[in-house]
Amino acid sequence: MSRLLWLLMVWAMVLVAPGVASAEGHAFPEYTGEEFVALYDYAVANTLPNLEAPNGRYPITGNDDLDERIWEAAFSRGYVLRPTAGDDLNRADGVVMQPQAAAAWKGLKTQARAAGMYFIVSSAYRSPAAQRTQFNSKLSGTSDTAIDATLTWYSVPGTSKHHAGYALDFRYRSGTFGGFRATPDYRWLKDDNFAVPKSHGLIPSYPDDVDNQGPNPEPWEFVWVGTSLAACGLPQVVAAAHGPAAAISVDLHRCPGGMEPVATPAWLGLP
Ligand SMILES: [Zn+2]
Repeated sequence: MSRLLWLLMVWAMVLVAPGVASAEGHAFPEYTGEEFVALYDYAVANTLPNLEAPNGRYPITGNDDLDERIWEAAFSRGYVLRPTAGDDLNRADGVVMQPQAAAAWKGLKTQARAAGMYFIVSSAYRSPAAQRTQFNSKLSGTSDTAIDATLTWYSVPGTSKHHAGYALDFRYRSGTFGGFRATPDYRWLKDDNFAVPKSHGLIPSYPDDVDNQGPNPEPWEFVWVGTSLAACGLPQVVAAAHGPAAAISVDLHRCPGGMEPVATPAWLGLP
């Protein structure tokens, strides 16, 4: 690659590095939908503790041919196999989740109630077995149309972000998930590129304007990635664009205190 082309690429990466240009006046960088998705994927692969490797394809309906069609349809929508939570989950408001997610929910809930917002957390950790039961209960028929209609909102077992225990579903106690987008609570959460959730380490799980992410966008679902990652963004974007020395100064500007150390998760099985 020519040096000029390389410099042009580096300059382009500087331009797309999230939030660098808009960091003034914001505690956290602004992210696009694609960048929120990338942040969670990075967190799962690098920083989130207490995860175990994906277990491959789970049986779904008991009919191998039908299961094969469902898996193919799921993968073509962008569903991927995801890790599952290890032991020692917490219970918050009757819902099981990772301890870090429970602490984040406690802080977010306190801030929400003070602001007059009364949404609840109604679902978090879900095992692949429970996901299988849910999926089968929503699947009405064996046509491609029936399969795709179910996959619009329901993950096949092994592909849900809920398996990891860091995903939280919000809604009104008397409301539906579908109605959550129209609530003042959602507007409050979404304001200023989700500034309040980010301050608790939470980001949108299936944001708007992202194609092929599995289900349709889900405004009610948030995932915990930690405040350090929410503040600093993907470290390799900054490092690749500026080099290691510049990465440090950019990180100090955007996230005082710097990144938390990256710990390779046990579920990756690396020595
Ligand atoms: Zn959910």
